[in-house]
Amino acid sequence: MIAAVDKNTCIGCGACPDICGDIFKMEDDGLAIAYVNPVPSELEDCAKEAADGCPVDAIHVN
Ligand code: SF4
Repeated sequence: MIAAVDKNTCIGCGACPDICGDIFKMEDDGLAIAYVNPVPSELEDCAKEAADGCPVDAIHVN
């Protein structure tokens, strides 16, 4: 599974690293990135949770 953050949509709320810090982190620009790809199978659930928890649907997992 690949996780991606659409930086044009991300508002930098910080929720995704809180939910799944093994996959997502905040960058110096104040926006999130998915820094581990492909997502290891044992982290797929938390990556999906982060995607579901994003208030602006900026995270795409597939
Ligand atoms: S949860 Fe969404 S809006 Fe918030 S930092 Fe992550 S990608 Fe950006």
